[in-house]
Amino acid sequence: MCVYTRREAIDTLSRMLEIYSPTGSEGELADFIYRLLSDHGLNARIDSVGNVTASIGCGDPKILLCGHMDTIPGYIPVRVRGMRMYGRGAVDAKGPLASMVSASIVASYCKPKGTIILACVVDEEGGSRGISKLIDDGVKADYAVFGEPSGTSNITVGYKGSMHVKMTVKGIGGHASAPWLFDNPLEAIFEAYRCIKERVESLAQSDDRFYKYSVALTMVEGGVAANVIPSEAESYLDIRLPPGSDSASIYEIVKQEALKTIGKYRRIKLSMELFDSTPPYEERHESQLVKVFQDAIKSELNTEPGLLKKSGTSDMNIYSAKTNVSSIAYGPGDPRLSHRNVEWIEIEDYLHSVRILLKALSNLIGLDLNEAYRMFV
Ligand SMILES: [Zn+2]
Repeated sequence: MCVYTRREAIDTLSRMLEIYSPTGSEGELADFIYRLLSDHGLNARIDSVGNVTASIGCGDPKILLCGHMDTIPGYIPVRVRGMRMYGRGAVDAKGPLASMVSASIVASYCKPKGTIILACVVDEEGGSRGISKLIDDGVKADYAVFGEPSGTSNITVGYKGSMHVKMTVKGIGGHASAPWLFDNPLEAIFEAYRCIKERVESLAQSDDRFYKYSVALTMVEGGVAANVIPSEAESYLDIRLPPGSDSASIYEIVKQEALKTIGKYRRIKLSMELFDSTPPYEERHESQLVKVFQDAIKSELNTEPGLLKKSGTSDMNIYSAKTNVSSIAYGPGDPRLSHRNVEWIEIEDYLHSVRILLKALSNLIGLDLNEAYRMFV
């Protein structure tokens, strides 16, 4: 019979790192994964947006393993130093993705009594076209695991939501030597920002930042010269949302605050736009999915698993908010190395994560774990 060894799993990761795949250029990596899966007899396909999907086993329960193929831009040469492998995406998120691909291949040889839906998606670092396509196609599962770095011994159980608001203020502009004559759009924006921040951040009280709102002024544009009151200014706010909140009601509050502040000025006009939002998600910490991963980590690493809650967002938010499927994120790699100029992964951690995925899968869909371990040496 055909096998898939630890050596092959390491080769899979290093090939995936060598193939540069910033958002929008995932094609070559998709072809590589498609061929690898096909060589192992899996019925893989590439859909119209470029996602690679494969179904392993049949019947219920169904578990979705979803990782993203794209990375942020900036190639990092692939090299191994000691027990570390360096390369763009080693952490975010080709390490986690390669462990899902490897676990799926091994599982396909181990008589699953249920279905693994493996999805390698595009555009996670962009507009999430990949996961949106899966949702549009009605990909439903009983459990979903997203391949994002949590570190081998941790499980990510929550991501905050986010929303972005554009605020444009128009006035008439004039000579800066007589500021009392001309309402200043830049100053108005700054005042409005202070009020919005104070109000929104006071909406939730907690010692844990995960359950609080945050507001940041991220871009401001306006002005033509040091001695001219500008006639127009534009700004962007980034707002992070705790579980249980929704962007529509927060946007109403943001608008109220902005109108209240800018309404004091008689000669400027305000326009606002909520131009994107991602809902927050938090998995129940006692859910079966969390428990299965906790058990797998404990038995593999002999350590108490940690539960992480992240202030960023991921495809998990979008999928679980839309489908209500029990979801976590899991994958090897130190999340603090995401989006940095140096990205590396401990090869041993990567291999542990494949075994942890196999253990969790065996609990959910009854894999022949002995067979899996005989192969994965
Ligand atoms: Zn990621």
